[in-house]
Amino acid sequence: MTRAEDTKADTTCLTGTLWTVYQVTELGQRTDLHDFLGTGIFSMAEREGGFAPLVFRLHGGAPQVVREVLLERGWEEYDEEEQEEGDWNLYWRSSGFRKLDYENILPWQRLNHHPKMSQITRKDCLARHMRRMKIAFGAALYDFSPAAFILPNEHTKFLGVYTKNRTTDRGKSHYWICKPVDLSRGRGIFLFEDIKDLVYDSSVIVQRYITNPLLISGYKFDLRIYVCVKSFSPLVIYMHQEGLVRFATEKFNLASLDSLYSHLTNTSINKFGMRYDTDKERVGRGCKWTMSRFRSFLHKQDVNELLLWHRISNIVTLTLLTAVPCVPSSPNCLELLGFDILIDASYKPWLLEVNYSPALSLDCPVDVTVKKGLISDIIDLMNYRMIDSFRQKGYHRKRSSRRYLRPEGFLLPKSLHATPSGCKSRNHSISSSSSSQDTLLCSVNNANCPFHANSKSIGDEKAPQNFVEIDSTRQSHRNTTSTIFKLPSLHVHKLKSTAVQLNSMTQDKSVPPCRVGDFILTFPFNEATWKASQDQADVKAIVNEVQKLTTRLATSFNEKERIKMESRQSIGVGDKFEPLLWGPKDPPLLSECFSLNSAK
Ligand code: ADP
Repeated sequence: MTRAEDTKADTTCLTGTLWTVYQVTELGQRTDLHDFLGTGIFSMAEREGGFAPLVFRLHGGAPQVVREVLLERGWEEYDEEEQEEGDWNLYWRSSGFRKLDYENILPWQRLNHHPKMSQITRKDCLARHMRRMKIAFGAALYDFSPAAFILPNEHTKFLGVYTKNRTTDRGKSHYWICKPVDLSRGRGIFLFEDIKDLVYDSSVIVQRYITNPLLISGYKFDLRIYVCVKSFSPLVIYMHQEGLVRFATEKFNLASLDSLYSHLTNTSINKFGMRYDTDKERVGRGCKWTMSRFRSFLHKQDVNELLLWHRISNIVTLTLLTAVPCVPSSPNCLELLGFDILIDASYKPWLLEVNYSPALSLDCPVDVTVKKGLISDIIDLMNYRMIDSFRQKGYHRKRSSRRYLRPEGFLLPKSLHATPSGCKSRNHSISSSSSSQDTLLCSVNNANCPFHANSKSIGDEKAPQNFVEIDSTRQSHRNTTSTIFKLPSLHVHKLKSTAVQLNSMTQDKSVPPCRVGDFILTFPFNEATWKASQDQADVKAIVNEVQKLTTRLATSFNEKERIKMESRQSIGVGDKFEPLLWGPKDPPLLSECFSLNSAK
């Protein structure tokens, strides 16, 4: 399998700044070949005069590394004073967007958050969802989440479990960790064994403390895994190959529950630890490793590494599934999440929490290695096309040469409605043939690529079935020369009569690429999961497929040939999917894992 580094080496930069043309690797991993010079959409002058840069907009507090990476890639920063409203391609915020931002999104724009993400990023919501899924699909499937109680509401329930533990396991200690539901970075967290030490003055969760973490030279650690949800409808999940291993800076010791440096692995805490700068045995200085370094460590252990990676990827899928029914369709949004995974001494991975806007500060060289590559790959996942760089202008031009179409039932952005003339009343149009033109722009050598890499993405306007001719009677109140178009509103539930149509319009039916940079597609992983995640996601069918895959992987040690055959038939070989296993250095095809496992 071509390695991530090699894939990057295959990259050809056409203009030196803006548009990057990727070649098709042998395995078709990276194929955004923008054949825009041959399309004839833009004039010679435009071609010779260089390309319009893409524009990013950062909200105060957005990470500096995002600015750095985008500037390095030839983007320009949005300037409120100089530029017109809407004249940007990416809006990046650390906090959430307003409802209006989602409603007024334009075809060339992307936002770095989906709405309603607190459903899994708030500790109490996550605990609630996990409990619901345990009831619906069995505790065994969701046993990666430590039992948790939301206090004060569930104080009595917790008391019952606490007392039962004490009486049945006499002499055995049970430990709990108490965390404020809406804080992060280890703030307000404490451990306790005796309920008299449980004191809180805000909403908290009390979670079973994992007392047997895997230790490296006596130090506790957890994994920060970067996950990108490209869409919730259909569910499309990518996991990044690089990530962080975050260490505690004092040795693990259950006799000192008060030592946060021994029990918490947050960098925000450990960078103030006395031993942060000490060269700690095997761990080294500081408190972080890259995931690559952890892979080398794992390699030397006698463990089934592949199964561990697969279990972590399952945790991510099963967790995100819980949010699918709650997140409204949001075609131009993308979410970067930080999953915190703890591995115990028996190599079982546990989900600790899901972080909204995971920290992107560059505190040490490890951060630079991991986070810069991560942001760059995120931008690639956003799959901008040349037409996006021209923003209003580009969409104008396409409109002028084609019939004017607009998505049925879509609303005019309020901000544009409001101003009858002037800058905000400029046209924003999408032509009926935008999809086909854009396919030309991204003319990918699909013949060589089994999974149609990057041929469509968020923000792609769909072909004619998604757009209908403007109803002139409904348009009559508008300036006839300013026909305005926008993407489907995210809040489709508000438009009840057209909800079904809109839902199918906003969906991207093309199979997502299996790899983009160091992002590996982990869901969907076969045609069955792809189909089950369309429209109203069939969570039960998806869970069944996840279980089937896990069982096959787990039993493949014993039933070498049969499993190998079965997996080849059902894990994608021969259909549109050639899924990779997220995690190992050179990610193998999932179908190959069976033979790898069998050979062990
Ligand atoms: P925060 O959002 O404040 O970072 P976390 O839930 O991530 O809260 O917890 C902070 C740290 O506490 C984790 O990184 C981990 O080291 C430790 N921790 C949290 N929950 C548990 C648990 N159930 N068992 C063991 N360690 C835990």
